Amino acid sequence: SLTLGIVGLPNVGKSTLFNALTKNDVLAANYPFATIEPNVGVVPLPDKRLDKLAEIFGSERIVPAVVSFVDIAGIVKGASEGAGLGNKFLANIREADAICQVVRVFADDDVIHVDGRVDAAADIEVIETELILADLQTLEKAIPRLEKEARVKKDRKPLLDAAKVAEGFLNEGTTLFAAGKKIDAELLRELSLLTIKPFLYVFNADESVLTDEAKVAELKAAVAPADAVFLDAKVEAELLELDDESALELLESIGQTEPGLHALARAGFHTLGLQTYLTAGPKEARAWTIHQGDTAPKAAGVIHTDFERGFIKAEIVAFDDLVEAGSMAAAKAAGKVRMEGKDYIMADGDVVEFRHGG
Ligand code: GDP
Repeated sequence: SLTLGIVGLPNVGKSTLFNALTKNDVLAANYPFATIEPNVGVVPLPDKRLDKLAEIFGSERIVPAVVSFVDIAGIVKGASEGAGLGNKFLANIREADAICQVVRVFADDDVIHVDGRVDAAADIEVIETELILADLQTLEKAIPRLEKEARVKKDRKPLLDAAKVAEGFLNEGTTLFAAGKKIDAELLRELSLLTIKPFLYVFNADESVLTDEAKVAELKAAVAPADAVFLDAKVEAELLELDDESALELLESIGQTEPGLHALARAGFHTLGLQTYLTAGPKEARAWTIHQGDTAPKAAGVIHTDFERGFIKAEIVAFDDLVEAGSMAAAKAAGKVRMEGKDYIMADGDVVEFRHGG
C-alpha cells in the first residue's frame, strides 16, 4: 500500500506526532496479532458516511479505509552529502510515495530549535534544499549515462530530455513537484527522484497560531498547491486518552472543531491521489481504496481480482441519493440506482454493488 514519509528538522514534533498516529493505529486496535513495522502508523480515514450506511443496512461492523505514515527520523543540513545518517534518510524517503513534512510553528523556549529560531519558511527551505541537492546528484550521474544510451537507443532520448528539463528546475531551486505538469513524471519514474513525490505540510502549531486565521492563510498560501494541515502534536497525543466529550472541549479550547489527525488522514489520502468508494450490507459497511480516476472494473479488483476479470457491471447509487431515499429498495424505486459499465470512472461517494461472472 502507498505510504507517506514523515520528515522534518529535529525538534519540530515528528516523534510526538508519530506517537499520536501509532496510538490511533487501526491495525494495532483491530488486528492484535498483525506484524506491525515499528516505524509505520496505519490510521483510519475518518468517514461519517460509513456510520450512516451501517444504520441503513444494519451492518454489524464498519471498516474504514486506512492511510499509512512512515517515520523517517530527522533530516539535517548536509543530508544530501551522505553525511552521517544522511544516506539512510534519503533511502527511506525514496521508498515513500509522498513526503509529509512537519514544520514547527509553536513557540516554546524550552524546546531548542536547531537553527535557533522558529521560522517556518526557512525550515521548509532547508529540507527542500537537501532533497533538491540529492536529486541533482542523481541526475548528474544519470544524464551522462542516458546520453550514451540515447546514442545507440533512440527510445532513451525522451527520458534524457525529460531529465535535462528536471535538472533545469532543480538548479533554479524548484522541486519537481512544484514544477507540476512542466515535467514528465511518468517518464522520469525510473530515476526515483525525491522531489517529484507529492508534498504535504503539517504545521505543528500552538493555540496562538491555530486561532490566527491570517497566519494560517499565509502559511497555506506559502505551500500551495501542496495540502497543509494545522495541528498541535502535543494536544493530538492527549486527545487519544480522552472520551469524546472531553476531547471536543480540549479541541475547542485551541480553536479546533475536529482532531488534527482526522484532517491529516484526509490530506494524506488526497496527497497520495487516492479516493474511496463504499459498499454496505448486513455484515459490514466498508470504504475501499482506489486511485483517483480508476474505472469500475479496477475498483472491483480491489475487493477481489476475480471481480475485475469477471466484471459485468456495477450497480451504483450516490451516497446522498441513498440517504435521501432511506433504503436501497426506495433508491431503486426512485430511479436513483444506475447500472454502469466497464468504462465508468468511479466518483467519490459511490455506493456500489458489483455484478460479476465466474
Ligand atoms: P522531533 O525531533 O521532530 O521528533 O521532535 P519531538 O516530537 O521529539 O519534539 C521535540 C520537543 O518538542 C519535545 O519536548 C516535545 O514535547 C515538544 N513538542 C512537540 N510538539 C509540540 C507542540 O506542539 N507544542 C509544544 N509546546 N511542544 C511540542
